Amino acid sequence: MVRRIAFAGFNLESVTAVPRTSRLADFERVCVRGQAIPDQFAGTNTVAGGALRVLEAHGAEMVPLFHSLLGALGPAEDAAVLAYAQELATGLKTSGKLDGLVLYLHGACWAPGFADVEATLIARARAAAPDLPIAVALDYHGNIDTATLEGADIAVAYRHSPHTDMGETGERAARALLRMVETGARPGLAVSRPGVVIPSIQSATALEPLASVIAQARAEEAAGDCDISVMGGFAYADSPNTGMSVICLDWQGQRSAEQKAARLSAALHTARAEISAAIPVCPMDHAVAEAGRLCGGGSPVVILEHADRMNDSTHGLRAVLETDLGRVMVPFLCDPESAEAACAAGAGAELTLALGGKSTPETGGPLRLTARVLWAGEKRFTVSGRYQQGAPVDLGLTALIEVGTVRISVTSHFAFAVDGDPFYIFGETPEDYDVILLRSKTHFRDFYTPRAKAILVADTPDLGPADVRLIPYRQLDTGAAYPWQDAPRIPPLPQ
Ligand SMILES: [Zn+2]
Repeated sequence: MVRRIAFAGFNLESVTAVPRTSRLADFERVCVRGQAIPDQFAGTNTVAGGALRVLEAHGAEMVPLFHSLLGALGPAEDAAVLAYAQELATGLKTSGKLDGLVLYLHGACWAPGFADVEATLIARARAAAPDLPIAVALDYHGNIDTATLEGADIAVAYRHSPHTDMGETGERAARALLRMVETGARPGLAVSRPGVVIPSIQSATALEPLASVIAQARAEEAAGDCDISVMGGFAYADSPNTGMSVICLDWQGQRSAEQKAARLSAALHTARAEISAAIPVCPMDHAVAEAGRLCGGGSPVVILEHADRMNDSTHGLRAVLETDLGRVMVPFLCDPESAEAACAAGAGAELTLALGGKSTPETGGPLRLTARVLWAGEKRFTVSGRYQQGAPVDLGLTALIEVGTVRISVTSHFAFAVDGDPFYIFGETPEDYDVILLRSKTHFRDFYTPRAKAILVADTPDLGPADVRLIPYRQLDTGAAYPWQDAPRIPPLPQ
């Protein structure tokens, strides 16, 4: 008998402080439905691609419903959550006999009308199909508690940040689901929370002591029949369950799942201060001065403006324009207005722009400058780096502009510069530059750690500060547990 497994994806990482909500139309712009899902994701390092790989290998059929992955933006509007929840319920009811569901969610989506968006979607699926085995695949940065997963039978999340294992995560979800379907066994599923909130910049899974706690999870898996997801959480989505967690899926039962999750959670709690301060962070002027000292000689220095949350902050851009750093690249600054103006002017033209900084005052505000347009037009490409490899990216109207020795690619759509693609698409390479200003948090490390001469992490007065005590939480009860309070506010740069 051919097993029929439904697949649906709704994925947004919400920064609650961003005033621009992610509207239904934004989700729809990136949404694919039905056969377009396997057509687009087969063979890619994505959750859909991984799930498809396992289902096909087991002779099972994917029943693709919808897939909308928006990335990291502001809150979702309630109407978007309601629309996709309704579509999920309808899809499950009208797709004939189904044997299971793989549901791809983030875990840190936030909407004004929903305390927990992921719990809402899982509950809608459960209500629509009360006996259907449901496997949830999550982002490592999800904010999860027991209530989030109440309607799910299985939950797994990315194990790596940078998220180089999105495909494997889809495979793990599909494999566990098929095991449940074939054997009738229901695994234990437990969530434990250590009461620890860390900034994204400290959530890279190769950093110690976090890496050692994650290694303990792998050891638990080797010792028992389970799948453990150590969750970094997402500090900038303010909800009652913001923060780290541990999810344990355990075929040895519920009690075993709870014990393992609690053990790992205790290890996170013990290491909380060190985890919260694993990477040194410095002010932007310090980073730029250090880059000036280090740059030149073939491999680029990376300055990381990690507190940027809307891909349009100008704190770093202002600093690199004011300092002679040689050849500088600022990839994927999102500013549709400036991209359109540059495209209208055309390649070779010179024009004055109010560039970037338009999303919120915290981004540093627009920079008035005169630039030369090097390239202008619509830009689409396929991801070549390991993070989301094979996935399509549409930048919309895009311009590569130049101010002195600083080049900036200005995009109309939100995209992350994490690998070599922002250079390759213009026939360049990262090595053509002395300094590269990135806005990634952890994903850039997979590509840039082996290539960069140095990575300088700069904190700016922006929406995603490295010091999470600066975040004005309204929903998270920080009074109960603010465990990193003894950690230094901004650790000094090593000399
Ligand atoms: Zn993530």
